[in-house]
Amino acid sequence: MEMKKKIQEKFKTLYNCEGTFFASAGRINLIGEHTDYNGGYVFPGAIDKGILAEIAVNGTDKIHAYSLDYDEYVEFGLNEEDKPEQSWARYVFGVCRETVKRGGKVEGFDTVFAGDVPLGAGLSSSAALESTFAFALNYLFRNKTDKFELAKIGQATEHNYCGVNCGIMDQFASVFGKKGSLIRLDCKTLEYKYFPFDPKGYRLVLLDSCVKHELASSAYNKRRKSCENVADAIRKNHPEVEFLSDAKRVWLEEVREEVPQEDFLRAEYVIGEVQRVLDVCDALERGDYETVGEMMYQTHFGLSRLYEVSCEELDFLNNVARRCDVTGSRVMGGGFGGCTLNLVKDELYDHFIETAIKEFTGQFGHAPKVYEVHISDGARVLND
Ligand code: ADP
Ligand code: MG
Repeated sequence: MEMKKKIQEKFKTLYNCEGTFFASAGRINLIGEHTDYNGGYVFPGAIDKGILAEIAVNGTDKIHAYSLDYDEYVEFGLNEEDKPEQSWARYVFGVCRETVKRGGKVEGFDTVFAGDVPLGAGLSSSAALESTFAFALNYLFRNKTDKFELAKIGQATEHNYCGVNCGIMDQFASVFGKKGSLIRLDCKTLEYKYFPFDPKGYRLVLLDSCVKHELASSAYNKRRKSCENVADAIRKNHPEVEFLSDAKRVWLEEVREEVPQEDFLRAEYVIGEVQRVLDVCDALERGDYETVGEMMYQTHFGLSRLYEVSCEELDFLNNVARRCDVTGSRVMGGGFGGCTLNLVKDELYDHFIETAIKEFTGQFGHAPKVYEVHISDGARVLND
């Protein structure tokens, strides 16, 4: 049965009324990896996998929430001490609390919701959940909160109620996402711009290695430190450099002898990546998806060889993509596991997927998961 129907039935059974439907989306990031904390660009878009929630104000001071996917019902109040036990409910609770903290009105409501973003695959199911409710509360209680603030409500929910110290990209993409557009976000100024993404004749598909190597968080901190070291060194010659992303390639060259070789390589990747985002934006304005693809391969190379955050499984998938003449392929997300994102011509798609499954399974003993995605709308109310 269709997700909306299931939600409607459950909602009617539990609450004996009808609510309004709200939705939001997971996201991909086409290019711009490990650039956020360097003050550079990211380039995400919302996808056609997300959360769908039916919600009705109930005239009490309690939230009644049912998660179809967890088959669990939870009730909670709106004060700090009412924090629910269930992790999924903490996202809903956190969004309510963060709205209240910003002076927004929130009263009791009934909800049933479900989703189809794979959990923990790097497509940000949690941001989809947060932005659905942040958007819905703003709409239902007429808070007139601006969209950036809705994204920040989601981010603060992660920080304060879910123990995840994330940046703003996921919630930003989930709130601002628009069908057929990617959004370039400048992580330093928070300025953003939409670019057309409508790759006719190509498909966008993620291959999930289903591995997560332990190294991720210590390596992440080390990479940040390396980037700061190099930015500090460059700043001595160029005081205008606030973040590494402000530096030109030639300025990096000036400090080659001053910084450890490893830090140099990390910085070389970051400075290259910032430029690649700009090149991809130019290419998209021309509708040149071959250049987009080539940049994706360059990013993969940089993440694998210079930034050293790839792993055997992801390099393997990237290699299969090259051999199958896939237009672009790269590891997406922080690295050390997760997915590759692939831009594939229609006619090569089936062959690529079959080959990747067969060869990856042969090598690693399990199949990668396959998620085809389309760039779609972010947080919204459904009026039908
Ligand atoms: P991701 O990378 O997908 O965002 P997270 O670990 O950050 O992974 O978030 C996953 C969590 O978000 C789940 O454990 C659950 O608590 C919540 N969540 C996501 N999607 C759903 C859903 N469809 N139903 C209920 N909770 C969900
Ligand atoms: Mg998440």
